[in-house]
Amino acid sequence: PPDQLAADSTKPTLVVLGSGWGATSFLKNLDTEEYNVVVVSPRNYFLFTPLLPSVTVGTLEPRSIIQPTRFISRHKKRKVAVYEAEAQDVDPVKKTVTFQDLSDIRGEAGSVTIPYDYLVYAVGCENQTFGIKGVPEYACFLKELSDADKIRTKLLDCIETASFKDQPESEIDRLMHMVVVGGGPTGVEYAGELHDFLIDDLKKWYPEIADRLKITLIEALPNVLPAFSKQLIQYTESTFKENKIDVLTRTMVKDVKEKSVVVQDANKEIKEIPYGLLVWATGNTSRTITRNLMAKLPQAQTQRRGLLVDDYMSMLGADGVYALGDCTATQYAPTAQAASQQGIYLAQTFNKLGNKAKLEKELSQLRASPDAPTKAEQIEATLKKLNRVSKLSPFHYSHQGSLAYIGSEKAIADLPIFSGNLASGGGAAYLFWRSAYLSNLYSVRNRTLVAFDWIKVKIFGRDVSESK
Ligand code: FAD
Ligand code: NAD
Repeated sequence: PPDQLAADSTKPTLVVLGSGWGATSFLKNLDTEEYNVVVVSPRNYFLFTPLLPSVTVGTLEPRSIIQPTRFISRHKKRKVAVYEAEAQDVDPVKKTVTFQDLSDIRGEAGSVTIPYDYLVYAVGCENQTFGIKGVPEYACFLKELSDADKIRTKLLDCIETASFKDQPESEIDRLMHMVVVGGGPTGVEYAGELHDFLIDDLKKWYPEIADRLKITLIEALPNVLPAFSKQLIQYTESTFKENKIDVLTRTMVKDVKEKSVVVQDANKEIKEIPYGLLVWATGNTSRTITRNLMAKLPQAQTQRRGLLVDDYMSMLGADGVYALGDCTATQYAPTAQAASQQGIYLAQTFNKLGNKAKLEKELSQLRASPDAPTKAEQIEATLKKLNRVSKLSPFHYSHQGSLAYIGSEKAIADLPIFSGNLASGGGAAYLFWRSAYLSNLYSVRNRTLVAFDWIKVKIFGRDVSESK
């Protein structure tokens, strides 16, 4: 009906920035009835990041792990406006947000500023480079779908170029050297997927050079996966050793050149390592829009790491702004798990606030009606309901455990069981990893596509055609 499609001037405007884990779980659980909801994100889909490393070698197809944001918005009670645009500026005093269409195709309307009553800020982070020269030019990140596609194409290009007639031996070694910087879960999972590709496919398709493929993982700290338990760190490192993945710990990348990385090793010696493909996975840093927002509120926003929020996810110093996920500086690790729980929590808060507004309206109508004295019971019941929805409880994080795939059909799982911890690595953890991620995927469509991709790869192997 048309009245469901139009913005209602009596209802507050709720702007949501982002379409990642935090924003999507918020939107999915939000009752939109009491709000004019506007979603702004440069990406018009949700990306299931835990399976992104599998896209880099073709274990999964890119479209299997994404779901359009409009799939969520079109099922809502009232119209939700979705704009594919990048928020450029938030003015926490005037309570406005400016966003711009930065896509390749642009129309006459490209930039707009709108007022908000509430802002749900979930723009995530960008890749940390520590200002090291050469990283943006020569390395591949692994955060967005386009990154995974770029890695897949570059990887295959390196292999084809290494196979070129009369390619010198030293050049084959360079091109076939895949270097991963950062031994966090992203770097480890990527190295594991790359190893699978070598064993399952490369040997079949490129037998003449497959054995020349070398994988090196560089980590500045004394071990990989610092957030996992000691036993699983050792298990991962010994599995990598078996799989001939070189792990260089206490080694820090200092400079990135077009064909080599400069590192400082554990003995403080400087070395140059040639590479064909370089994947950079050294964690997160705040986006420019987040840094600018913090700079506007210097008294309240004092953490470089991200936005400070209270226990109710309300941003310190900014009226009506709620922030969640990787863009915040909280006690929780920047994970999908934390962001999605925060999204659910915040949606419940907004549902309560919406209910409260509705009940307040009802109450004032009841009290103003000429036969109010005969409606004492109804007024009492409404007051009780109002009391209930006015009580907000703080956010509580429930840790469900950490999982990571490490290659050759092995995974590691750190799971909280009762009041202890179960650390498990191997084939059983791999089956658990697969079933957990399959059931956590966004939709039945995603689950079906991912399951088919796994079966397809088992039967036919991975596709080695480049997409250029
Ligand atoms: P994101 O999911 O990054 O979403 C940010 C959104 O904001 C995106 O839609 C983006 O397009 C949008 N955006 C960006 N700039 C703007 C702007 N200016 N205006 C409007 N919108 C904007 N965590 C786990 O718990 N388990 C895992 O197994 C796991 N695996 C991972 C694997 C990989 C390869 C990666 C990269 C991360 C993984 N993570 C995992 C971490 C997890 O993905 C993040 O913690 C999570 O995505 C954070 O959610 P978010 O909503 O804060 O940010
Ligand atoms: P991270 O911050 O967890 O790890 C980055 C690693 O890079 C660190 O160990 C750091 O010491 C190293 N490093 C930094 N600079 C370096 C340099 N110059 N040279 C060598 N090493 C350097 O980053 P991530 O792996 O991208 O993970 C980001 C977040 O996403 C984390 O919270 C992580 O838990 C989450 N995540 C989880 C999973 C999972 O649960 N399976 C998978 C991916 C990401």
